[in-house]
Amino acid sequence: MTTADKYTVETITGVRPWTDSLFSFRITRDRGYRFVPGQFARLGVRDREHDTTVWRAYSIASAAHDEHLEFFSVVVPGGAFTSRLSKLKEGDEILVERKSYGFLTTDRFEAGKDLWMLATGTGLAPFLSILHDFETWERYENLILVQSVRTQPELAYEDLIRGFDRSEYYAEFAHKLRYARIVTREPVPGTLRDRVTKLLASGVLEENLGVKLDQDRSRIMLCGNPEMVEDSRKLLTERGFRISRRGDPGHLAVETYW
Ligand code: NAP
Repeated sequence: MTTADKYTVETITGVRPWTDSLFSFRITRDRGYRFVPGQFARLGVRDREHDTTVWRAYSIASAAHDEHLEFFSVVVPGGAFTSRLSKLKEGDEILVERKSYGFLTTDRFEAGKDLWMLATGTGLAPFLSILHDFETWERYENLILVQSVRTQPELAYEDLIRGFDRSEYYAEFAHKLRYARIVTREPVPGTLRDRVTKLLASGVLEENLGVKLDQDRSRIMLCGNPEMVEDSRKLLTERGFRISRRGDPGHLAVETYW
């Protein structure tokens, strides 16, 4: 296989800034590109000056049935990839590896009734894709999304998440969604303030959402800050939840972000 067979050259079709350091972008999608909601793509940005390409993994935020691919990113100060990426604009090229990756997918689980998706920061992205998967809405009785950010403007995609009940396609399922917002560094009415790990340990998260964590019912996905993922994983395994492994489905699936 030559290098060119490994990737396709796509075009940026839209950039949406959320804050100074947080943005989403859309790109064209090769007709042959396949992924399961929850997976990530490998994106490449060419540096013509140094004749190199920098590659990074990015969770796909868009639906498997969308014609485009969408991603949600932070600008890492001094980061080789995101600082370059954040300068890209509509019409610029971006490379996409033909293969998709990752195991943060619902097919990792034993059958369950409640799907918990716990995200910090840009770790929200894979859950947006999963939330656009009709099968997920059909399969689970409750979809529980927890989005933790530092400040209110970082509550990206809030309108989209709250808008499922107004959507022509999802409205019939929308009553299944429970959405908790956590804003840790400033008081925001209607949101929780403590870290998700503290809220999990104290039981406040379950109380707030009106759903109990339960091994028979709950399937839990964690995505975002590596310490949050590790600490939550520990808390949950101490409560008897098991990580899903290849060929051995359990209750927990995790993806760390950097
Ligand atoms: P973040 O530090 O991940 O914070 C997002 C949310 O997660 C906040 O509510 C935060 O609470 C919470 N959180 C952080 N650590 C936690 C833990 N151990 N347990 C429970 N909750 C926790 O913020 P971010 O803005 O998404 O990213 C932070 C930095 O990480 C960025 O400045 C960026 O440089 C880097 N980053 C890099 C990449 C990459 O791909 N290289 C991707 C994402 C982020 P608190 O307010 O209490 O901390």
